[in-house]
Amino acid sequence: MSDINIDNWWLPFTNVRAFQDNPRIFSRAEGCFLYKQDGSEVLDITAGLWCCNVGHGRREIADAVHKQLMTLDYAPPFQFGTPPGFEFAQRITQHTPADINRVFFTNSGSEAVDTALKIAHLYQHARDKGGKQRFISREQGYHGVNVGGTSMQGLPTNRHGFPVLDRVDFLPGMLDISRNAFSRGSPAHGTEEMAAAFENIVAMRGADSICAVIIEPVSGAGGMVPPPQGYLKKVRELCDKHDILLIFDEVITGFGRTGSAFAATEFDVVPDIMTTAKGINGGTVPMGAVLIKDEIQQAIFDAAPNTLPEFFHGNTYAGAPVAAAAGLAAMDIYEQEGLLTCGSGEKGKYWEDALHSLADLPQVIDIRNYGLLGAVSFDPMELPAKSLGPKIHQRCFDNGLLCRAVGDNMVMSPPLSISHQEIDLFISRFRQSVTEVLGQPS
Ligand code: PMP
Repeated sequence: MSDINIDNWWLPFTNVRAFQDNPRIFSRAEGCFLYKQDGSEVLDITAGLWCCNVGHGRREIADAVHKQLMTLDYAPPFQFGTPPGFEFAQRITQHTPADINRVFFTNSGSEAVDTALKIAHLYQHARDKGGKQRFISREQGYHGVNVGGTSMQGLPTNRHGFPVLDRVDFLPGMLDISRNAFSRGSPAHGTEEMAAAFENIVAMRGADSICAVIIEPVSGAGGMVPPPQGYLKKVRELCDKHDILLIFDEVITGFGRTGSAFAATEFDVVPDIMTTAKGINGGTVPMGAVLIKDEIQQAIFDAAPNTLPEFFHGNTYAGAPVAAAAGLAAMDIYEQEGLLTCGSGEKGKYWEDALHSLADLPQVIDIRNYGLLGAVSFDPMELPAKSLGPKIHQRCFDNGLLCRAVGDNMVMSPPLSISHQEIDLFISRFRQSVTEVLGQPS
């Protein structure tokens, strides 16, 4: 039991009453491990919340943050800039597709999403297409918690009871596990269904009313589902056909998660706008960013009067020097250790084989992997749907393993810096935990 007073902090996405009965508190972290208050270790196979990609407690980042705090802790980002902000924006664009070179910093993925929606809208106004106000999202999509992003949510529980825009239509989701059983890489189906639904939406609403499509290249919080072959290219093709912008929400997939720096490169599809956050500075100082095609920014510039800001939008801590300094240090690590592409190399293969070695566990109906992402889906059978995941999650935690339950899917996104030995440790702790909940493999 904790000796900390836990009454005052209302934790996000938490059932506080359940938490009070079972407080789970971390007090230290290093490498791929978090440590509980009693000092016991927990292997962090989720990189925090898909963000601590370079591992916890990196001295290089701590030193850079300290140095920046002592040099220039803060300067207002409205009408003023700082060297680390400019340098970091430039470093990021060295890893984006060729014509995506403009960076608008935010403090989180949610802010990046709402900012991207505003930029898309503004762009349509800038080229006299102000009637294009609708958006297309996807069932099971997750796009953060601000009102714009909440409106784009394809997960009903994340919308329920909240104010949402009604000008959104949804493409079908992709988590149809029974069809994907034990597939490695991409699911076989989904592209034709998506294309038919897309054309239906356009026919129903009219292309002149649709501003942009927002989509996670790999569906993350919806259960970690990679796109079927050709799916994202088809989305791009349909957007071009109907003069609709394409926004990739790369809050999870950005910074090496899929085996390329960004999923846009991995899947060879260039969106008009990308959102990113999480891994941007290794999960240290809050930061996000919108990455924008040159021509989108140029059109907005051209339409704006000379005397006013082109984009009436921004946050106090946008591109804060301390966050940018952390980003520059994280970028050095990403580049020097080859982490941005390790998921498509030997480490990705080791991860894939390790994950698929779990196929004999009871009630496993699908295993998915992409880069250093993974998911094991369970069939609840006797238990009510969605209660098996939390049960396995708790047992993993008790056995020193942090993974994430999304319904009855266990989802993994280890620090990209994870070693083979730590992957083996994950497999043995996961196997032990599932066996304790569901029994031995038959
Ligand atoms: N978009 C996606 C795809 C995400 O996964 C998340 C966070 N899980 C967000 C947006 C929101 O990011 P944040 O939590 O930093 O606001």
